[in-house]
Amino acid sequence: MMKRSFFGIFKPKLEYDVIDDIKGEPLVVSPQKKITLFIDQAYEKISDVALKVGDSVKRGQKLALTPGSDRYALAGRSGRIAGISPFIGISGEPKTAVDIDLSDEGRQEDDADFKNSSKPPTLKNARDFLEGLPGKPEFDVFSDPGKSIRAIVVIGVDADLYGVANQYFVKNNIISIKTGIDILRKITGVLDVVLVVPQHLVQTAGTAGAIVKTVDSRYPAAHPRLIMRHFQEEAVRGGAAAGKKSDFAVFNAESVATLGAAYNTGRLPLEKTLLFVSKDGNKRLASVLIGTPLKDVLNAFGETLNQGDRVIFGGPMTGVSVYSDQHPVTADTDTIIIQDSSQIMEQPGTPCINCGECVRVCPTNVPVNLLIRFLEAGQYEEAAGQYDLYSCIDCGFCAYVCESRIPIFQYIKLAKHTLDRMNAAEVTHA
Ligand code: SF4
Ligand code: SF4
Repeated sequence: MMKRSFFGIFKPKLEYDVIDDIKGEPLVVSPQKKITLFIDQAYEKISDVALKVGDSVKRGQKLALTPGSDRYALAGRSGRIAGISPFIGISGEPKTAVDIDLSDEGRQEDDADFKNSSKPPTLKNARDFLEGLPGKPEFDVFSDPGKSIRAIVVIGVDADLYGVANQYFVKNNIISIKTGIDILRKITGVLDVVLVVPQHLVQTAGTAGAIVKTVDSRYPAAHPRLIMRHFQEEAVRGGAAAGKKSDFAVFNAESVATLGAAYNTGRLPLEKTLLFVSKDGNKRLASVLIGTPLKDVLNAFGETLNQGDRVIFGGPMTGVSVYSDQHPVTADTDTIIIQDSSQIMEQPGTPCINCGECVRVCPTNVPVNLLIRFLEAGQYEEAAGQYDLYSCIDCGFCAYVCESRIPIFQYIKLAKHTLDRMNAAEVTHA
């Protein structure tokens, strides 16, 4: 039985940023010498590697470790493979890093595979080429026999605070979003499409040919998993087949716009739109080729890193620290925050004082004050079985309000990742 906490429901309010408050067009940032791309596959497990150091690659080429693999990256520039190495992702997930040397940039050439196979658009060519687009669209859900997709939900607001990439696309690229929505309808057969936007973008969103719904401006209302929960509850209230779970496919507005542009032009758009927050708190939009090292982004903004400064990839609630200026912008980097060492609070590391703030803010009513005791002790199965670990949507709000500055969010991520690995190992050995 799940154990509940007794704390009340007062919640602090944090508001999402609004795209109209960010001035100027995105600064275009180009990589100088190399790009680094991640393939979501462990390198050391591959015996029949399809990529080799020294191979030349073309712009838009699909890079996979084994021929025909569904784990791939898309090269944003022509160049030569300079290195292939194992890389451990933020939650400990094994990846492969592919470095592409751009010194031969004079010989830019587009790979023709997508163009040649993208007419007409199909679910197959979307899965084969578009899962590396900005925003990381995923199409597996449409071929999962255990799911029956009731509607496609396009989210026109970012999950974390500061992020405005999706709002930017709704405001400035609604025609591409409309094209993307029309194509999604055709290739999936799912006709109901809902575009979720903040109140101030309702009028623009109304031209996309989808049902428009608004989302509250308070964090974490725009978290995709909260939005999904809302739609599932609405479907049940609306009389969805009794006992049958309603499934929804989720895309963000940036990925739908880039999908629309890709099929329209036969060319893969591989520039990620993100928000750059400099040490003085100034916020600027940037358009950065996926794979561009952080160093090139810093140079473009005239920002320097000194001893003790911190770089966060992602928003203030769920972002992660990055420790190398070679770390690349990825397809889901929505925000980069640079913090001066003088702004960084030391972690006092005091024990939980049972103040209950974490419980009050949790949008899914996880008894965080109880859960954290088990996570600190490494008792992950108990945390999942008795304290509702899997109801957590990873919004990070509990860690933000924690009086004792306990890194609750990191504990939660580690616990989920460890349990996932244990479950995967059990399946492999079964
Ligand atoms: S990170 Fe999880 S446990 Fe913490 S507030 Fe968000 S949903 Fe609740
Ligand atoms: S100290 Fe932190 S973990 Fe403990 S109850 Fe308060 S907010 Fe929750």
